Amino acid sequence: MKDWQARGNDILFNCIKRIPVTIARGQGVRVWDDKDNEYIDFVGGWAVCVLGHCHPVMLKAINKQAKTLIQTSHIYYTKPYIELAELLVKNSCLDRVFMCNSGLEANEGAVKLARRYGKLKLNGAYEVITAYNSFHGRSLAMTAATGQPKYQEAYQPLPVGFVHVPFNDIEALKDATTAKTCAVMLEPVQGEGGVNLPAPGYLKAVRQWCDEKGILLILDEIQTGMGRLGTLWGYQSYGIEPDIMSLSKGLGGGIPIGAFLAKEHCAVFQPGDHGTTFGGNPLTCATALAVVNYVIDNDIPAASKKAGRYLLKSLQKLQKKNPMITNVRGQGLLVAVEFNRDIAAELLTACLQSGVLINAMKPNTIRIMPALVITNDEIDEGLARLEKALQNIT
Ligand SMILES: *Cc1c(COP(=O)(O)O)cnc(C)c1O
Repeated sequence: MKDWQARGNDILFNCIKRIPVTIARGQGVRVWDDKDNEYIDFVGGWAVCVLGHCHPVMLKAINKQAKTLIQTSHIYYTKPYIELAELLVKNSCLDRVFMCNSGLEANEGAVKLARRYGKLKLNGAYEVITAYNSFHGRSLAMTAATGQPKYQEAYQPLPVGFVHVPFNDIEALKDATTAKTCAVMLEPVQGEGGVNLPAPGYLKAVRQWCDEKGILLILDEIQTGMGRLGTLWGYQSYGIEPDIMSLSKGLGGGIPIGAFLAKEHCAVFQPGDHGTTFGGNPLTCATALAVVNYVIDNDIPAASKKAGRYLLKSLQKLQKKNPMITNVRGQGLLVAVEFNRDIAAELLTACLQSGVLINAMKPNTIRIMPALVITNDEIDEGLARLEKALQNIT
């Protein structure tokens, strides 16, 4: 009887550099491994578990819906799907909704909608401008959309129709816009690519440029949505509105769901243009409905903003004590800590020993993206463990 990690290595594709821990259960902001070691979870199911692990509101919704109806097809009307769509529309600037199962699917749908718009309204324009250091998912098209060569090289040739420009460079965006452009797609804050914040005025200038050219602005809010940045949607932090928005990660608090939403003027799909087997599934929609209701009713975005400020301030204090830390940045509970050299992998291993899960985002940078319900005490506890791990690195 080999252990779980050896068994996994024997049988799973070797396409993921797995961290040597077998997580067995979770509760709130903590998880336990199969040997019952406890960890503060600063990764939060990869910025997904907005209410923490196994929140009672989710359990109740899952149980209730599982006894009622789990799957039909979105070719039929179902109550959870429509209620969730209504809730998202009521609380955003968008008008129409399509549910799917993951982030990349939400972005695929968003780009398909923009291309449909281009065909119908922009003389067949099909190109989408995205940013370097963006991350939009792992399908072939979203790999092409993602402005990071390291994800692309193994899969050339990639689908055409994506052009990349530096984030925060409005002139480059203007230069890249041609008669072939149908949309610009950006993350309000780049997540995977480094927790890169938009420069003051950048997103407003992008919005203005899209209006001027009559092209669509797609915001990929898969990581930034659901209160992560301290507002329900990231765009609300920057005083702009997208034409199309994609969601996933936090939307269901841990169950697999994605969605893209659009304003009426660009909701140009016709019957048969798009589809999915599982998208809009009653079980996932009922769970997401409970999560989104909880997030709104309890003003979780405000909690995220407050906790994020506390986390950032605490990390800045740590930076004063520790010369290895060269930069601390973030918004809400999406935070990066940069070091003066490539210690992220080593630090992650030391953190497993001291009992905290972190994300080694770059060789010299870690990312912290915990549950949005994390308390100051829990932040203190996690940071104390992080500090202890740092002391072991010379
Ligand atoms: C995670 C992520 C995706 C991809 O989502 P998947 O569910 O992994 O397909 C796309 N865009 C952003 C901004 C993300 O953070």
